Amino acid sequence: MSILDSVENNLETIQKNIRDVCENVGRSPEEINIIAVTKYVSADRAKEAVKAGVHHLGENRDDGLLEKWEVLSNKATWHFIGTLQSKKVKKIIDKVEYIHSLDRESLAEEIHKRTEKTVKCFIQVNVSGEDSKHGLPKEEALAFVRKLEKYTSIQVVGLMTMAPYTDDEAEIRNCFRELKTLQGHIQEMNLPYAPCKELSMGMSNDYRIAIEEGATFIRIGSALVGNEQ
Ligand SMILES: *Cc1c(COP(=O)(O)O)cnc(C)c1O
Repeated sequence: MSILDSVENNLETIQKNIRDVCENVGRSPEEINIIAVTKYVSADRAKEAVKAGVHHLGENRDDGLLEKWEVLSNKATWHFIGTLQSKKVKKIIDKVEYIHSLDRESLAEEIHKRTEKTVKCFIQVNVSGEDSKHGLPKEEALAFVRKLEKYTSIQVVGLMTMAPYTDDEAEIRNCFRELKTLQGHIQEMNLPYAPCKELSMGMSNDYRIAIEEGATFIRIGSALVGNEQ
């Protein structure tokens, strides 16, 4: 296990970067929500993040989420950020407020079936078209949103993407920009169940670019809580 910097220090650095980027592009730092992604760390470390002032916690696996939820439950707002198998929905659905990986109708159906509450969902879009990435091809996103009307537990709060794995900043920026464009098209549809005001994009290595391009939720693991594995 590596020695980790305190979450508090990491958070300060990230918040300073957010302020700087926001100032450069004329956004308000209040628009940016930090999700601490705790998938590589212990529940104790997740606790430290909450203590440092992070309200949003994200996990990409059901067991990881449950492990941390046992410890922190209502002290955080929970985000499921990973590929979600339909059979896992019932294990996590009453614990999470946000799901970032809605990418197929069968998953929408399962979510709707398993809960009475409203679940804030991001549609995950595979903007870059990389095979390894989950998410809907961008060409299918509008038709997909229309299909969600009958699943009344689902509110489409926004879109989520992961940038391609590359050092090419222009390529990353382009990916985020395309997600923003798609968001505009969905907003123009004026669907009451799909306000689509949020953009979940940006991770440890690319959150500055994501903020420049309109991110409202950034999902940060290694740069914030680190990696204990
Ligand atoms: C792991 C993960 C992150 C955070 O990754 P870092 O590079 O460690 O910040 C963000 N989003 C998703 C979907 C992830 O799986």
